[in-house]
Amino acid sequence: MTPATRVALHLLSVGRCRHPEWVTIRGGGLRAVEFPALVALIIHPTRGPILYDTGYADRFHAVTQPFPERLYRWVTPPELPPDERLLTQLAAHGIAAGDISRVLVSHLHADHVGGLRDLPRARFSALEADVAVARSTSALRMLLRGVIPALLPPDFAARLDPVDARPVRELGAAWTPFARAFDLLGDGSLLGVPLPGHAPAQLGVLLRTTDDEDVLLAADACWSARAVREARRPSRLAGFIFDDWARYCATLAGLGEVSARQPGLTIIPSHCATTIETWQARRRP
Ligand SMILES: [Zn+2]
Repeated sequence: MTPATRVALHLLSVGRCRHPEWVTIRGGGLRAVEFPALVALIIHPTRGPILYDTGYADRFHAVTQPFPERLYRWVTPPELPPDERLLTQLAAHGIAAGDISRVLVSHLHADHVGGLRDLPRARFSALEADVAVARSTSALRMLLRGVIPALLPPDFAARLDPVDARPVRELGAAWTPFARAFDLLGDGSLLGVPLPGHAPAQLGVLLRTTDDEDVLLAADACWSARAVREARRPSRLAGFIFDDWARYCATLAGLGEVSARQPGLTIIPSHCATTIETWQARRRP
């Protein structure tokens, strides 16, 4: 199955952090590389603007002042230049915060959910295994899973629509080992593909753009296009923050197989500066 309804897709970098390259990809150099935080702005023909993740927000600094949350900032110190703020970039597209009706949440790490509280009318779609950790009563336990509860809106649970309850669609042999997807809106336009390992479930989204390009938004299932192309894992050190290293490796290998079978498919990792810049450059007027 391929997506039935075409959507417009814009890629926004909403903040960034820097890591030594060797941490992010095996065989990488000592130099620090930029790790942009991706927000995909999806314009659906009838449902309007929908976001895939929300990147960083200024509140990250406030909520990581106290311990133990400050540890998160030490591990991944982010920058958010004013012109990269989510609401600023949405405004440049003529979109107000209240226009966003839905956010597809890949997983609950801070660089993906930082802006949820800025979107007062949005409902959220996420996989159950990823949001289960947010129900923990232990802030430390959540932090160890990469989740900062203060970033989530107080009514997060009430605004959540579980992806696992959506109708299942068979993707076909070209997508093995990702055989099945969830029809996120019910019209076949946005297909949710679980990409487990980095987080317990992690929601990838398959869509077809108005340019007839098939795209898989892959969050942190791979940290660069090169990692998929060359089957290169991150450093085992980075793997310590992953939910399940073996599942991560299986998902990364699966993306490599799918990519080899489907040369026309564009896989978009959330933190690959090259992929995001190439995409933006191709669409610049
Ligand atoms: Zn991330």
